Amino acid sequence: SRDQDDFDMMALVPLGLCGMRRLATATQSSVPSGSLLYPMTNLSSLRGSQPLRIVAGKGAKVYDDTGKEYLEAMAGLWCTALGWGHEELVDAATRQMRNLSYYHCFAGRQVPIAEELADKLISLAPDTLQGGKVFFGMSGSDANDTQVRLLWHYNTVRGLPQKRKIIGRVHGYHGVTVASGSITGLPHVHAQMGLPLDFVRHVSCPSFYRYGRDGESEAEFVRRLAAELEELILAEGPDQVAAFFAEPLQGAGGVILPHLAAQWTPAIFAGFETLQRPSGYFPAMREVCDRYDVMVVGDEVITGFGRTGKMWGCTAFQQTVDLLSCAKQLTSGYVPLSAAILPRFMYDAIEASTERRGGVFGHGYTYTGHPVSCAVALKLLEIYEREQLLERVAQLAPQFQRRLSGLGEHPLVGDARGIGLIGAIELVKEKETKQPFDASRAMAAKVVQFALERGLIVRVLPNDVVSICPPLIVSSAEVDEIFDRLEGALSDALAVMP
Ligand code: PLP
Repeated sequence: SRDQDDFDMMALVPLGLCGMRRLATATQSSVPSGSLLYPMTNLSSLRGSQPLRIVAGKGAKVYDDTGKEYLEAMAGLWCTALGWGHEELVDAATRQMRNLSYYHCFAGRQVPIAEELADKLISLAPDTLQGGKVFFGMSGSDANDTQVRLLWHYNTVRGLPQKRKIIGRVHGYHGVTVASGSITGLPHVHAQMGLPLDFVRHVSCPSFYRYGRDGESEAEFVRRLAAELEELILAEGPDQVAAFFAEPLQGAGGVILPHLAAQWTPAIFAGFETLQRPSGYFPAMREVCDRYDVMVVGDEVITGFGRTGKMWGCTAFQQTVDLLSCAKQLTSGYVPLSAAILPRFMYDAIEASTERRGGVFGHGYTYTGHPVSCAVALKLLEIYEREQLLERVAQLAPQFQRRLSGLGEHPLVGDARGIGLIGAIELVKEKETKQPFDASRAMAAKVVQFALERGLIVRVLPNDVVSICPPLIVSSAEVDEIFDRLEGALSDALAVMP
């Protein structure tokens, strides 16, 4: 079976890819940038290459050190909702730095701006989290680690200390710290690092396109996945299983929606197809979780704050969550900030447990509730409301999704899928049979490289997927430009095929 293992970054080496430019001559330095250890990079591919050096940005565009302009159709790492150089966010940060550059919330100290942001987030949160509490961190990874600690703490104080196991999904991405990296279901995150840790299990990825069996309907596929979850919980013992972690759509694993992407309708173009044609995936998984007292953690690190056209991806996909993690678009990536949101009943149990002497809630970071990050997030949420960003996404989504589905006609594209202002194409050797290319050909990496040459930044994901996720402030003309350039890059790749 074609699985995540195919995402071998080594395959990008001979191409000088991974977003690198080839050096003009082989004599140039083999260590491109001195002391920096590059994240999520095939380090050996840096030999003889030099990283793309991005030095400036404005709106949906960034510029390299030669002055070349790129349409940044990945919003950085899915985060820059308001694009680059937004003066109001810069002002909010600098004003806060001048006023109170840093303070902490340990031992009950109040940082009013963190209180204000927490209240605001709860007011925006899904119904199940009304009255809940917000714990701030700096990254999506640490938000998910916090969720694990909260779940363990809660289960311990309610007399179930052994209820610790966490279920993630193949192709899921929840971060790279030892807990969140374990829940992530991508082999390149686990390789050589001894992950996943033994409290984590994984169930199948909900890509009907890739994993639906011959003759299987989408409804049967969903039933099979729900049965698999139930069998796993029963095999582990329901008293051992704490939670099921799931992104509303799997982002870094390949922009995988729990839906059949082939059935395009006008409603899909509006970005709200899920409301009219539920796949049943999340309700079915939830039913199983409810049966065995397993909590559902919604990882909204990519989908939060309007990416799908709804404030939360869980609303777009009928995923009922008990806990919710968010980050990235919360500050548009200007400063680090994440939030782990927990329901009131969990907070109350944890709070009661600290009544005893020395019963501290022993979790917190130096930068929990950092005032500068909170100031930027509050400003961002103000701009979201004032400029009606959600409505803007809903307006642009039909054009974006129409152009995306148009790419589905290209001979290299087996599947084109998306919702709101996020999408991906999955490249295949043969459309009819969905036969993938040999991984060593690094087809998606080639397309991404050609796109780069055409002034477009998109991203390679596992299994020859190319993702598109522009800033939410992208213009209609820029949406067309993104797809024109990507179409050109696909044709470039087709032209060099042997
Ligand atoms: N969760 C999801 C869904 C993500 O997409 C990511 C990062 O892409 C993370 C968690 C981890 O976030 P961070 O890189 O900020 O640790």
